[in-house]
Amino acid sequence: MILDITYYGNPVLRTSGEKIEAIDETTRALVQDMIETMHEASGIGLAAQQIGRALQLAVIDIPAEIETPSRMWIEDRRVDWSEYMPLVLINPVCSTIKKKDTAEEGCLSFPGISASITRPSRVTCTCRNLEGETWTFDADGLLGRAVQHEVDHLNGVLFTDHMDPAEKRHLREEIETIRQQGLEQSQES
Ligand code: ZN
Repeated sequence: MILDITYYGNPVLRTSGEKIEAIDETTRALVQDMIETMHEASGIGLAAQQIGRALQLAVIDIPAEIETPSRMWIEDRRVDWSEYMPLVLINPVCSTIKKKDTAEEGCLSFPGISASITRPSRVTCTCRNLEGETWTFDADGLLGRAVQHEVDHLNGVLFTDHMDPAEKRHLREEIETIRQQGLEQSQES
């Protein structure tokens, strides 16, 4: 089922997600709907807040043929990241390295907006999967960036919070238009 995507201005996007205690049929159905919604919107990541649920749950699906490089490691062993797509992050906890990269980023909750965002170049993430197992992986490149962007959402942080102030000023009218939409959307539901 395709779900409605929440826009900036909807307070749910500023709400930290609750931990998921039981991974059951309801969780699996929600994950399935989130993956369908992300694909329908041509996104590579979607957090629960973006479909109106404040939970520690996000999905990522980077197409294997994408040109932007990514690398992934499990217990220091390099793995083929494409075999782990779609990636389901449940209750993720991340740490990052000091080195930073800058790249163009967008967000389904800010339609039409993209900006260059500087983030740590590599992330270590411990989370649960749909089988309930806890596992840890490292990622860099586009995948590392997507993981950080989605985990930010789960803590109420948005990519505009990382934007260069000058770039943000330049986009302020577009951002304000979306904020009004998001606010109206939250008042309708
Ligand atoms: Zn986003």
